[in-house]
Amino acid sequence: MSRDRSLTAYVGLGSNMENPRRQVESALEELKALRPITLLKHSSLYRTRPLGPQNQPYFINAVASLATTLDAEALLDQLQALEQAHRRERGGLHWGPRTLDLDLLLYGGMSIDTPRLSVPHPEMAKRAFVLLPMSEIAPPDMEIPGMGRLQDLLLKLSGEGIERVDR
Ligand code: ADP
Ligand code: MG
Repeated sequence: MSRDRSLTAYVGLGSNMENPRRQVESALEELKALRPITLLKHSSLYRTRPLGPQNQPYFINAVASLATTLDAEALLDQLQALEQAHRRERGGLHWGPRTLDLDLLLYGGMSIDTPRLSVPHPEMAKRAFVLLPMSEIAPPDMEIPGMGRLQDLLLKLSGEGIERVDR
């Protein structure tokens, strides 16, 4: 399904298996190749200490913005197909290792709550590995529906356990 006009969506990328940096870099290339999606910007890569079980490798995280005429569920379909292509094992440990995780963080200024989709992503305001990369590519005064302004949310988080990966 698609809309008449494109809007801007933000996608969070994460990986901590099978060369996470390459997983994220290739996912960005694959996002560029998807239609009808235009990759607008992407952040640097960040190395992040894992949430949940600590006996797993560090994550590489990044955030991308894209313009699309796909509706939110159709965009999620595309993101999940990409995850599958990276052979992500589903049904594993919650917050456990994964080759590629793609979360739809924001979809325009919309709030969505369906069985398949919660947007804005409910955990994003608590996650430096989402907000820090997002702050590289989004306006600081961007309003996250129901949560507040990006710059205000970021101030409440510690930057502990996250560092930018040098190119
Ligand atoms: P998580 O990212 O929380 O570790 P998964 O990536 O395995 O977990 O996602 C599980 C389910 O979350 C998906 O089947 C999807 O339908 C649902 N979901 C709900 N909201 C979102 C969102 N904003 N982005 C991505 N998936 C979402
Ligand atoms: Mg996910």
